[in-house]
Amino acid sequence: SAYVFDFTQGSKDQKDLLGGKGANLAEMTNLGLPVPPGFTITTEACRSYLAKGKEPGELRVQVTMALRHLEDSLDRRLGDRHDPLLVSVRSGAKFSMPGMMETVLNIGLNDASVIGLAEASGNERFAWDSYRRLVQMFGKTVLGIEGDRFADALDDAKKAKGVALDTELGVEDLQALVQLFKDIVREESGRDFPQHPREQLDLAIRAVFDSWNTDRARLYRRRERIPHDLGTAVNVCTMVFGNLGEGSGTGVAFTRDPSTGAPGSYGDYLENAQGEDVVAGIRNTLSLDDLKGLLPEAHAELMTVMRRLETHYRDLCDIEFTIERGKLWMLQTRVGKRTAAAAFRIATQLVDEHLIHEDEALDRVTGAQLAQLMFPQFDSSAERQLLCKAGAASPGAAVGKVVFDSAAAVAAKERGEDVLLLRRETNPDDLEGMIAAVGILTARGGKTSHAAVVARGMGKTCVSGAEDLDIDVHLRTARCGDITIVEGDVLSIDGSTGEVFIGAVPVRPSPVVMYLENGLEAALVDADEDTAALVTSVDRVLGYADEIRHLRVRANADTAEDAARARYMGAEGIGLTRTEHMFLGDRRVLIERVILSDDEDRQAALDALLPLQRQDFIELLEQMDGLPVTIRLLDPPLHEFLPNLTELSVRVAVAEANGYSEAADLKLLAAVQRLHESNPMLGLRGVRLGLVVPGLFGLQVRAIAEAAVARKKAGGDPKVEIMVPLVGSVMELHLVADETDGIVHEIAAREGVDLHIPIGTMIELPRAALTAHRIADVAEFFSFGTNDLTQTTWGFSRDDVEAEFFATYLDKGVFTVSPFETLDADGVGRLVRIAAEEGRKTRPDLKLGVCGEHGGDPESIHFFHSAGLDYVSCSPFRVPVARLEAGRAAI
Ligand code: PEP
Ligand code: MG
Repeated sequence: SAYVFDFTQGSKDQKDLLGGKGANLAEMTNLGLPVPPGFTITTEACRSYLAKGKEPGELRVQVTMALRHLEDSLDRRLGDRHDPLLVSVRSGAKFSMPGMMETVLNIGLNDASVIGLAEASGNERFAWDSYRRLVQMFGKTVLGIEGDRFADALDDAKKAKGVALDTELGVEDLQALVQLFKDIVREESGRDFPQHPREQLDLAIRAVFDSWNTDRARLYRRRERIPHDLGTAVNVCTMVFGNLGEGSGTGVAFTRDPSTGAPGSYGDYLENAQGEDVVAGIRNTLSLDDLKGLLPEAHAELMTVMRRLETHYRDLCDIEFTIERGKLWMLQTRVGKRTAAAAFRIATQLVDEHLIHEDEALDRVTGAQLAQLMFPQFDSSAERQLLCKAGAASPGAAVGKVVFDSAAAVAAKERGEDVLLLRRETNPDDLEGMIAAVGILTARGGKTSHAAVVARGMGKTCVSGAEDLDIDVHLRTARCGDITIVEGDVLSIDGSTGEVFIGAVPVRPSPVVMYLENGLEAALVDADEDTAALVTSVDRVLGYADEIRHLRVRANADTAEDAARARYMGAEGIGLTRTEHMFLGDRRVLIERVILSDDEDRQAALDALLPLQRQDFIELLEQMDGLPVTIRLLDPPLHEFLPNLTELSVRVAVAEANGYSEAADLKLLAAVQRLHESNPMLGLRGVRLGLVVPGLFGLQVRAIAEAAVARKKAGGDPKVEIMVPLVGSVMELHLVADETDGIVHEIAAREGVDLHIPIGTMIELPRAALTAHRIADVAEFFSFGTNDLTQTTWGFSRDDVEAEFFATYLDKGVFTVSPFETLDADGVGRLVRIAAEEGRKTRPDLKLGVCGEHGGDPESIHFFHSAGLDYVSCSPFRVPVARLEAGRAAI
C-alpha cells in the first residue's frame, strides 16, 4: 500500500491517515500558500512498524522515491557537500499531542555538508549552529541520551566565554561544541554520530514512530481519551531557516486570541532563531506589531495568509511560521486550541461574521467547556504551593479551614467560617457536614463514591481519593509525606484538577453562574468587556441549543432550595427527588422507630412523620409549579438509618462488662444484627423495603397526595409523579401501585379534588430492562437509574470499585473511561434500548427518562438522544450543560 504522500497529494480531511499536521500541510500546499515542499509518512506505516517491530518492506523504497522527487524538484541533494538539502522530521498524530512526541531538525548535516551549507548560505556561524543543533537533537531524541548532557555543555561553553545568549557564540565556539557533542554521543550511546544523511533520516523516522509509545505520550492520551492504537504520521519537510541572521526568525500566531476569544490576530516572533526556541522561552519574544516594524512585507503576507486560513477553515487557526531572509514560510497550521471562554466567544463571532451558521456554532463548543465556565476558579497567576493531587470529583475552587467531622463543620459554619471537610471517606451521616463545608476532601473513593455524587449534586467542590493523605480522625490531623495538617489549617482544593494547595489561593466567582442566576441584563451591569462578551455568547449558544434539542432537561433535586436553583438553570421539571435525605437529622429517631417497633408504636411514628414529609413536598411542588416533579419512594438499605453494628456491639459489650445494660440498646442491637447484610446494595432496599415494612411507602404516598391537594387548594398547578425504585418484576410494581391508587383515590374523594398522580418505575436492574414490556403494563413512565443499572450489569460495586482496579482497567484499555461516568453504550446502553423499545410496544405514550449520574454526562446525553428518550435529569448545576449537549446531539 501507499505509505508516503507528497504534500501536494493530501487534504485536510485525511487526518486519520496523514495526521493533523500532515493533512493541514497538504491543505495549505494546495491552497497555494508558501509551504516548504515535503512528504508525509502515514499513520498506517507507524501502526505496522509498532505491531511488527520493524518498518514495512515497501516503506524504504517509497521514502527513496519521495526523497528523490523532492531533491529533483529543488535541484539539491540531501546532505550534499555543496548546497545541501536539509530536512526536518516531525511527528503528527490525528489528534494534536503538544510536545508529547519527537522532532528532529537539520537532518542531512555532517562533517562535509556543514561546509557546503556555510558556503551556500554565506554564513559560517549559521551552518555550525545548525550542525550543533542536529547533533544535540539527534542525540537526545533518536539515541535517547539525557538532554541535560548537551544543555549543560552548552551552558558551560557560554559561561567559559562569559556570554548569556546562544547567539553570542562564534564559529569556533560552535565548532568546538559540535566536537564535544559528538564525544557525548559516542560516550553515552556507544556509537558515532551517523554521518550518512539517509541513515540519519531513517533513524529519525523510526524515533518518531517509537515516540508514540513513550510513558508521557500514553499518559497524555489516557487523560485526553485518545485511543492508543492510532499511531502517528511523520512529516519530512524541507528545512527553511529562521537562524540566518537579522532578516530571519520564527514565530507562532493565532488568528484570534485563544485565551479570551477577543478578535484580532495575536502572536510571538523571535528573531534569528529556529523552531523550538520560541516555545522554549530562551529569549524574550516580539509581538506581531514589532514584526511589522522589522519586516513589513513579510508581516503583510502573514496577515493575508492568516485571513485566508480563517476563511478556509472557518475557525480560529494557530500557525507556526519561519521567515528566511525576509521570505515567509508556513510550517504548520491547525484549528487552534482555545480556552472555554474563547470557544463560546469565537463561535458567536463567527456566526456574526456569517462564516458559520448557528448549528455549527453549537458544534464549536462543548458541555465540558460550559461546565468549566460555571465554577469559581483559582486565580492561576497567584502563587501557590501544591500539597497533593487526587481525583477531580466535583469541580470548583474551595478555600477553607480544615475540619475532620460533620459536627465540627456545622459548628464552624455557625461561627461564619468557611471550612473544608476532610474525611477518609464519607457516608450519609456526613451529609450535614458536607452541606456546611465549602468543599470536601476525601482520602478514599473515586468519582462515584458517596462524597463525589453528593458533592456534585450540591454543586460543591470535591477532591476524592487523595491516597497520599493519612487522616487520623481522633488526633484530628492529616499527614502528607512530612507535612502535617491540623484542624484549623487552611487548604485550597481545586475540584476541576484534583489539586490540593496549602494556604488560601485567591478565587474568582463565575460570571456565567451570575448570569444564569440573575439573567443577562443583571450580569451585564458593571461587567468588563471580556466578561460581557462571554456571558452574551453563552446566552446565545444556549438559545441555539434550546431551539433544536429534542431531549427535555430536568433536575435531580431533593429540596425546595435545589429546585429553585434548578429552575433558574433552565430545568423543565424534577426527574428525581431522593426522599431518603428527608429521613436524616432529627427525623432519624422516628424512622428508627418505624423500623424497630411493633404495629402500634410504628403507626405513631409514621403519623409523626406524615406532616413533616407533606411539608417537604408542598415546598418542592411550589417551587416547580406547573412542571413535572418525580418523587421516588424510599430507596436505601434500612441499616443506613440505624447505628453502626460494630460501634453498637462494642457499646453493649462494655455496658455488660460494667454490670448494666440498657434494654433499648439490646433491642436495637438485635434489630441491627437482624438487618445486617453482606451486600446491602443488593439487599433490603427500594421496592423490597416498601413491601416488607408495612405502612412506609403508604406514608410517603399519603404525604405526596396531600401535598398535591394542598397546592391545588392554594391555586397552584402541581404535577407530581410517584416513582418506585429497584423494581425487578412487574408483580412488585403491581403491589405498590395498588396500594398507591387506593390511597390517592381515598384522599381525592375525601378532599373533593380531582387527582391524577402517574406511577412509574426506575429501570435499574437488568431484569427490569429485559421484562420492560410487562412492567409497562403497570408503569406510566420509566426512568433509567443508570447508576444501579451499571452496577448490576457489570457486577461492579459502585461504592468501592474505583480505587481498587479501575486504574488497571483504564490502563489496560478494558474501558477508556469509567462506566459510572460515561454510559457503557454497548452493554448498559443496550439494556436501555431494549427497555425503551419494548416498553413503548406495550404503551406507546410511555414517558422515558434517565436520572442516573449519566443524565448530566455529555457523551451519555448523546446516547440517550439516539435511544429516543424524552428527557434526562441531572443535578441542578449540570442542567445548562445538559441543555447544551442535548442541542448538540440534535444537530
Ligand atoms: C440510579 O441508580 O441511577 C439512581 C438514580 O438511583 P440512586 O443513585 O439513588 O441509586
Ligand atoms: Mg438507584
